[in-house]
Amino acid sequence: MNTILTQSAADLSAALAAGETTSVELTGACLERIAEVDGAVHAFLHVDAEGALAEAAASDARRAAGSPAHALDGVPIAVKDVLATEGLPTTCGSAILRGWLPPYDATVVARLKAAGLPILGKTNMDEFAMGSSTEHSAYGPTHNPWDLDRIPGGSGGGSAAAVAAFEAPLALGTDTGGSIRQPGAVTGTVGVKPTYGGVSRYGLVAMASSLDQVGPVTRTVLDAALLHELIGGHDPRDSTSVDQPLPGLVAAARRGASGALAGVRIGVVKELGGKGYQDGVLVRFTEALDLLVAAGAEVVEVSCPHFVHALAAYYLIMPSEASSNLAKFDAMRYGLRVLPEHVEDPSAEDVMRASRDAGFGDEVKRRIILGTYALSSGYYDAYYGQAQKVRTLIARDFEQAFGVADVLVSPTAPTTAFKLGEKLDDPIEMYLNDLATIPANLAGVPGISVPSGLADEDGLPAGFQVLAPALADDRCYRVGAALEAALREKWGGPLLDQAPSLTAASRNTTGASA
Ligand code: GLN
Repeated sequence: MNTILTQSAADLSAALAAGETTSVELTGACLERIAEVDGAVHAFLHVDAEGALAEAAASDARRAAGSPAHALDGVPIAVKDVLATEGLPTTCGSAILRGWLPPYDATVVARLKAAGLPILGKTNMDEFAMGSSTEHSAYGPTHNPWDLDRIPGGSGGGSAAAVAAFEAPLALGTDTGGSIRQPGAVTGTVGVKPTYGGVSRYGLVAMASSLDQVGPVTRTVLDAALLHELIGGHDPRDSTSVDQPLPGLVAAARRGASGALAGVRIGVVKELGGKGYQDGVLVRFTEALDLLVAAGAEVVEVSCPHFVHALAAYYLIMPSEASSNLAKFDAMRYGLRVLPEHVEDPSAEDVMRASRDAGFGDEVKRRIILGTYALSSGYYDAYYGQAQKVRTLIARDFEQAFGVADVLVSPTAPTTAFKLGEKLDDPIEMYLNDLATIPANLAGVPGISVPSGLADEDGLPAGFQVLAPALADDRCYRVGAALEAALREKWGGPLLDQAPSLTAASRNTTGASA
């Protein structure tokens, strides 16, 4: 493997600025890597080699003229297929949107383009972002680069796998209940869910509008901060977008990397750990905590008693919103249209029914049925209304906890990557993966997942989650970067250096021949 692929986006940015490489070279190397490994990984649903190389050439011309558009100008990126990209297929992992070419760019995509980042392609995901394993994609699963028989997490398994397999230095994901952070944990990458409203949702195909956030998927905390600052900030096209400047995220990551955490109060959430969490995941969590203490942080235990109801509340609120959001896929305006068999002169409703039946997968149907039920007149108060009350209690738990701690921490996901197929037939088992990530979405607070180490006998990675109060995303970066720095010192390098075949081993073999 070309060693340029293992560099962080921050280093690539410096190399581009110094004229040591070009965007065409870098983008070409990513495309070669994709051609080499993506048959096995299947991180991408669509690769836009031509478009990416054209953007790369334009970027090199800007650099040559001494006017790069941004520090990351020329650094290629992969984009989750739930974000609208003008003229590039956007399927949300669903058959109902097979071949759909959006007529516009999501705001985050427009910002990438304005900054000059070549878009390598669109990454695989659970259909409409519903899932924790990327197995609910209508286009087949993504495989975890650490072990191809295992899941890469979900719903954004494609973005995480692309970054973990060195197919892209950066990617965008979306997180409604953990879909950036949990894939980060099980692939040994960094994932951030920003504060709700911190990054525009315009052009993000909505699953649950009050929970969805776009965020960075990277190999380092600093890279995530660079990308977050690029995509974040107010957007008049999103009415829930926060109209105030982002805190200094890159500065916070740099400060954290220097290690000093004196005066930082870290709250360990009692309810996010213990039963249901794999032993090795807890061991890595405790060790990471010790490193933060060694860096000067103070640890307090906090209790968030309503977090135990977060999963139940989420699985009422999210399907309710999804059932409403997905009503627009009616075969009338765009997307799949199926004419019902054996119906003479079908009505519009007959066509909608046949199209939705053929176009949506089982998990999507399950959630539409659940959400429609929870919102129906006789049950609204008992289910949706109750869940909203629980949501308020969870937000209050956060408020209280942030009264005594600057950040809250937990393992990101309860287990390491499970085998493909292992939980596919058991929705509840699948839902339990998001135990630790969902509370943040319900309350709108930001969270980061940083690799915490190898956590089982198979040598698979786990993640350490840092949550901060709304609009204090900088705290996630500061603490995340401090942990990353301490762990790298302990490991003698990045965790991904310890990954088997697709990463370290193939680096040696193909690197030697290249
Ligand atoms: N795994 C969770 C779900 O299935 C979260 C998904 C997400 O964050 N998009 O809903």
